[in-house]
Amino acid sequence: MKIVSERVYLSIGSNIGDRFANLTQAVKLLQADSSVQIEAISSVYETQPWGNLNQANFYNIAVSVTTTLAPQELLAVLHEIEQAGHRQRLQHWGPRTIDLDIVYWGDRKINTPDLIVPHPRAHERNFVLLPVQEIAGTDSKVKKQVDAALAEKADTSWINKVEGVSIKP
Ligand code: ADP
Ligand code: MG
Repeated sequence: MKIVSERVYLSIGSNIGDRFANLTQAVKLLQADSSVQIEAISSVYETQPWGNLNQANFYNIAVSVTTTLAPQELLAVLHEIEQAGHRQRLQHWGPRTIDLDIVYWGDRKINTPDLIVPHPRAHERNFVLLPVQEIAGTDSKVKKQVDAALAEKADTSWINKVEGVSIKP
């Protein structure tokens, strides 16, 4: 029997085109992968662009999954889903439509050239932490990390729940 992972928390964001459709497509593609099991999906949040303010607001969600994949393999799946989004982007000649990051993998620390977990930048950003907090529930390994990160109040940017929409697994 394949070993199933601890809960893995993904942050998914879009600020180009139909942001809700882009997030929905990413979740669909994730779900279509038989080695990934979606456990929970956060509300949809509209968030202030981080760093470069001269761009459209983002839509962000957090998704928790379990998987039989190794971390590098899951990262490869996320990159494929981003590629699917990129194709859409090429049609519209815009910047990238979708970004999928691994935020937490239980309480594991991963440090390789192409994968760092907890995500080194995302984990100090409200648009990542608050959606993750919403779905972390009783997952003490992750809740502990999210609460500690939020307690630092490193980020003052705004984040608002988008009312009346939700992405279902
Ligand atoms: P960002 O998400 O920081 O805006 P990109 O989506 O372009 O930037 O990702 C750049 C690279 O970050 C990816 O190719 C990936 O190898 C690397 N990376 C390192 N740690 C992570 C992680 N935890 N989740 C996703 N990508 C990661
Ligand atoms: Mg990324």
